[in-house]
Amino acid sequence: TFQKIGIEALKQVTKRYARKQNRWVKNRFLSRPGPSVPPVYGLEVSDISKWKESVLEPALDIVQSFIQGHKPAVAPMKMPFNETENKRSYHMCDLCGRIIIGDREWAAHIKSKSHLHQLNKRRRLDSDAVNTTESQSISPDCDKELKEKRSSRQNDEELISSI
Ligand SMILES: [Zn+2]
Repeated sequence: TFQKIGIEALKQVTKRYARKQNRWVKNRFLSRPGPSVPPVYGLEVSDISKWKESVLEPALDIVQSFIQGHKPAVAPMKMPFNETENKRSYHMCDLCGRIIIGDREWAAHIKSKSHLHQLNKRRRLDSDAVNTTESQSISPDCDKELKEKRSSRQNDEELISSI
């Protein structure tokens, strides 16, 4: 019947939508942890006969805790632990002047907007610095000046040591 076909189609698109949502949450939140990413909570939804105690009640509990401003009884979800990555590794970002702890956090940091902004800034400065040193080495007067400065500094030092 048409009703049966309709129900089946609805189930199918809902399943597809749920898979898409899970993928989005995984990519957007779980694989890029950081201070601006909200905690994600998992609920056991496989048994429909336990809907009330395993889905509805825990979900309401989490929302209630959020509203009241304290931590829920259950822990937020984390990406399955990867053996090769180190959660406590130290990375110093010279560009941003920040210490990042954890390999995944580090991977997220070097792709972050703030880091890329610093990177662009540094690149601009570097290209400026290269240009100025090039123009300095071309002009012979600059070398002379440098030598003079150096010798005068030596004189100063000699003066100081003689005093
Ligand atoms: Zn950085």
